[in-house]
Amino acid sequence: MRRPNPCENMNHRRTNAPIAHCPACGHVVNDAISGRACSETDHAAERRRQNAFCTGCGAELIANLV
Ligand SMILES: [Zn+2]
Ligand SMILES: [Zn+2]
Repeated sequence: MRRPNPCENMNHRRTNAPIAHCPACGHVVNDAISGRACSETDHAAERRRQNAFCTGCGAELIANLV
């Protein structure tokens, strides 16, 4: 039983995504490289790319802006 992911991000369709987490929904897209710790600098760069979630650790970035 596979629940379709509502996220349209193309990284979900890739077998070997270059990022660990989807920038739109934060779900893991590449298990092999997920779980790394990010610095605040990494997250600042992700925010500049207008990502809702960090592609490195999956943390929600927009909420942290407040
Ligand atoms: Zn997604
Ligand atoms: Zn991160």
